[in-house]
Amino acid sequence: MFLGPALPSNWSDDSSVEDYCRSTVTTFWHYHGGCLVGKVVDGDFRVMGINSLRVVDGSTFTISPGTNPQATLMMLGRYLGLKMLRERRESQCRFLPVQGSYVL
Ligand SMILES: Cc1cc2nc3c(=O)[nH]c(=O)nc-3n(C[C@H](O)[C@H](O)[C@H](O)COP(=O)(O)OP(=O)(O)OC[C@H]3O[C@@H](n4cnc5c(N)ncnc54)[C@H](O)[C@@H]3O)c2cc1C
Repeated sequence: MFLGPALPSNWSDDSSVEDYCRSTVTTFWHYHGGCLVGKVVDGDFRVMGINSLRVVDGSTFTISPGTNPQATLMMLGRYLGLKMLRERRESQCRFLPVQGSYVL
């Protein structure tokens, strides 16, 4: 038994086939959307209202990328990780006496 919209009655009508695909095609394997940016985490992936907690994973995606998501997720993790390290170094440098230049 299939639960969901009925198959398009006219398979020659591209727009109704397109509508059918958009409303039914999904995946079991690419979970996303549980911790949306702007709703659960802010633009820096910090959990809103909680100090020192970030969520950086597929749950922050509003939509699943139109392909396997693993590479996108790894890039997101690396991007955020490097950004956090840079910010941490910058905030530590503010408290150090100035002795030449710092390599960040
Ligand atoms: C069968 C299958 C096949 C797939 N094949 C592919 C593929 O070929 N290519 C591809 O790109 N993607 C594939 N995917 C999708 C991909 O694996 C996921 O989209 C991706 O791993 C999600 O990454 P994530 O970091 O969001 O979450 P996850 O990889 O699920 O990592 C979440 C981690 O958080 C941990 N965790 C959960 N709750 C807590 C907690 N409370 N405290 C501490 N830790 C916690 C979990 O143990 C887990 O290690 C596949 C998925 C499945 C299920």
